[in-house]
Amino acid sequence: MSHIFGANGCQADQGVPDMTVLSDIDEAAVNTNLRVRYAHDRIYTYSGSILVAVNPYKTLDIYGPASVRRYEGKKLAEEEPHVFAVAESALRALQASGKGEGQNQSCVISGESGAGKTESTKFILQYLCSVTSGVSTWVEQQILEANTILEAFGNAKTIRNNNSSRFGKFMQVCFDPSWHIKGCVMQDYLLEQSRITFQGSSERNYHVFYQLVAGAKKNKELADQYKIDPQTTYSYLNQSGCSQIEGMDDTAKFDALRLAFNVLHVPQDTADGIYSTISAILWLGNLEVSHVTHIPFKVGEARENRHAMAKTLYSRTFAWLVDHINKCTNPGHDQARFLGVLDIFGFENFDVNSFEQLCINYTNEKLHKFFNHYVFALEQEIYEQEGLKFRHIEFTDNSVCLELLEKPPRCILKLIAEECRMPKGSDKSYLMKQHQEFDGHPNYIKGEDRRKWELQFGICHYAGEVLYSVAGFVEKNKDTQQDVFFELLAQSEDDFVGDLTRFQDLLGCTIARMGSVNSTVSRGTSKGKPTVSDAFRNQLQALVDVLQASQPWYVRCIKPNSRKAYDSYDDALVLDQLRYLGMNDIIRIRREGFPIHMTFPAFRLRYFCLHRRRYIKDIREHVKAIMGELRGASPRDWQLGKTKVFLRQRVYEALEDLRSSK
Ligand code: ATP
Ligand code: MG
Repeated sequence: MSHIFGANGCQADQGVPDMTVLSDIDEAAVNTNLRVRYAHDRIYTYSGSILVAVNPYKTLDIYGPASVRRYEGKKLAEEEPHVFAVAESALRALQASGKGEGQNQSCVISGESGAGKTESTKFILQYLCSVTSGVSTWVEQQILEANTILEAFGNAKTIRNNNSSRFGKFMQVCFDPSWHIKGCVMQDYLLEQSRITFQGSSERNYHVFYQLVAGAKKNKELADQYKIDPQTTYSYLNQSGCSQIEGMDDTAKFDALRLAFNVLHVPQDTADGIYSTISAILWLGNLEVSHVTHIPFKVGEARENRHAMAKTLYSRTFAWLVDHINKCTNPGHDQARFLGVLDIFGFENFDVNSFEQLCINYTNEKLHKFFNHYVFALEQEIYEQEGLKFRHIEFTDNSVCLELLEKPPRCILKLIAEECRMPKGSDKSYLMKQHQEFDGHPNYIKGEDRRKWELQFGICHYAGEVLYSVAGFVEKNKDTQQDVFFELLAQSEDDFVGDLTRFQDLLGCTIARMGSVNSTVSRGTSKGKPTVSDAFRNQLQALVDVLQASQPWYVRCIKPNSRKAYDSYDDALVLDQLRYLGMNDIIRIRREGFPIHMTFPAFRLRYFCLHRRRYIKDIREHVKAIMGELRGASPRDWQLGKTKVFLRQRVYEALEDLRSSK
């Protein structure tokens, strides 16, 4: 192991903080390095500027005010790797940009469910709020408390994570010219709706339901006001066999939610409306329907409609809250710079995958392509510009798969949307058309088993093959928010419920571009109404456009075991994630490419001591002469471009060793 860990003088048993210094690097070495560091509670490790974070599943004393001070004003690699260091670097890059034609910054946080994305997001926000002003300002409080509201309404216990985010979010923290936080703009993505009416075994509904019921249990007045009975009464809360989460106090969380409503200026009568709506949704779940002749529905239809109504009410409430938070924290319309943080669902492959997984995996394909572009395409563009001789570095290019999903005129998303507009559209007829259209496509799987041709299809994603069951695709894509419910809700005597139908829910366009809040696509009505996939595609494109115009920072979160346990590291599980997260390709470009670039003057300044005999005026020749001092270095390990020296890791290390021995 010594050749792995000796590289930068680190102790062999501690691992290295930056994996780009590992010589002979491969997957196993990366995994070993992460495991060794994890065993010492060093959960953060860099691979160049990409931060890998392994979930410790225990409280570490590395996020307090002293830690904030430790990273303030420091360069990325100056201190022990940390998510604060990434936030600091992004913030400094943003501030440097203020002086000229600079760039906004985005932290892209990825990883599978339970890997630590939301915790990392909160640490970044906490860091930004701590360092940009001496005292905590009101808008900073609001940004932090917005998370309390979002988690209550958008998070739930799943088998993978006790506090799983069931929606994606992109939070853009906006700054004023003196670099104080001015506000925040948030875009949410695809809140999971099925959970409102059904939860799998050992899972829970959204936290807010339990919080409200727990609050009412303690306070009879509340129970009377919102008409709340004990939790076991409700079929939306008692089907899964799980009502409590170890270590989570729903009563205390309810108090925190009420406080957060105050901080975000939700008036008391509106808060009353929200709680009453939550209570009404619970009662909808208990509604019994018998086959009464004057109702023009079959029992099954009536039952389904009741569920659809509950979902409409809940998802509109969620959208209303996001809208309210945005209004409250809106930075205004001047040219604010932003630092964005993206906390969005990771790749999913379950025993049964449905429309939701298709949308989630589509998101990941889209983000992966962006990542590839940033890491590989741009890197190789630089090699070309500089006139280097190099072998094109292969990476898992997912363009073809992404085209299968989203490229007009014929693609999977288009076919689903078309089916939704057919008067007699069905899952089966959609699937048949799709099989016909894409039979033979390299990323499309029709399947060997003819008996399943009417039920499922598969896609070869960059992270692996996934089979999708089409049952429910068409219905889910149509959107449950049917106009008939809107008409019903609009007649409500409750102000809040009436408001739910009136406010404009902007699809995909709450994203701030240089401070102005765009709003181009609004929820249409009846015929022109976009399907879920249409709307989501617009949202994702808007997101990628913003990411593309900003400088990205990557935090790759890793889940060390599937048991939510601390001090436990499962090698095979981590290896899989390293692949999903594109870390293996990163490792390859480090090995096959030239990870270190230095301009000629910077190189001469640093390594002048290696060749003191004479000063050569032609800087290129001087650089060559310095490299000549490095006996035995293979010409394949370094090259001179037009303006820069390009080095492989081992040459760089040899230069550094030589320099420190002088
Ligand atoms: P999902 O996709 O399901 O939303 P996620 O990636 O957002 O998952 P988190 O909710 O951030 O995952 O983390 C899951 C749990 O892991 C947290 O509730 C917390 O208990 C633990 N955890 C994550 N990161 C840390 C950390 N840095 N320190 C301590 N515990 C952590
Ligand atoms: Mg989360």
